[in-house]
Amino acid sequence: MTIKFGPAGLGPVANAEKVLGQYKKFGFKICEIAFTYSVYIKKDDAERIGKKAKELGIDLSIHAPYFINLNSLEKEKVEASKKRILKCCEIGEELGVKRVVFHPGYYGKMSREETYKNIKREIQELMNYIKEKKWKIKISPETMGKVNVFGSPEEISQLVKDTGCDFCIDFAHILAREKKVDYTKIKKLFPQKEWHCHFSGIVYGEKGEKHHKTTEKEDWKNLLKKLK
Ligand SMILES: [Zn+2]
Repeated sequence: MTIKFGPAGLGPVANAEKVLGQYKKFGFKICEIAFTYSVYIKKDDAERIGKKAKELGIDLSIHAPYFINLNSLEKEKVEASKKRILKCCEIGEELGVKRVVFHPGYYGKMSREETYKNIKREIQELMNYIKEKKWKIKISPETMGKVNVFGSPEEISQLVKDTGCDFCIDFAHILAREKKVDYTKIKKLFPQKEWHCHFSGIVYGEKGEKHHKTTEKEDWKNLLKKLK
């Protein structure tokens, strides 16, 4: 098994190729481009940056904007959320990106079951659109760190089963949400050969994630021991 390590964030378009060159020197094999506040790369630049990444042997992924809720009571908000994900897919295709990672949504006042049904339906629609466009890109809902936010490992695993979508396992989020990481459970929930994962230090309380923090050496050692 191979593990490819890389950072979250590529930085501004103007420096992208230079930064990719530095990443290569550091030994990074993957990089997640943060469209978390906006889809800041234009089509023309995307093609150029994607080419450079390929040349250097660095896989790219995208983190979609934070402003996404596929379970909003307001239809316009769901539509806007889907548009943001699809915009990432469109630029992602130019970049040659494998997947777009996103935070699927909130329970709000709805039950877990109802939330699941709604999010599943919207993901299915997104995937239909991607198929129609003949895009190769995958969409990857992420395991979430707050107890009252949709995205338990079980929910994400079920989405993969029901829709065929991809997934992102965020180990820091799982730790914050469940107060421990049950690696045996995670391996059962995600029998797929390829995993896209996030990892970092995290501060959490009863309700889960408070904020991320610098990853300690011990955290790394612990994770890698568990994930042979
Ligand atoms: Zn995320």
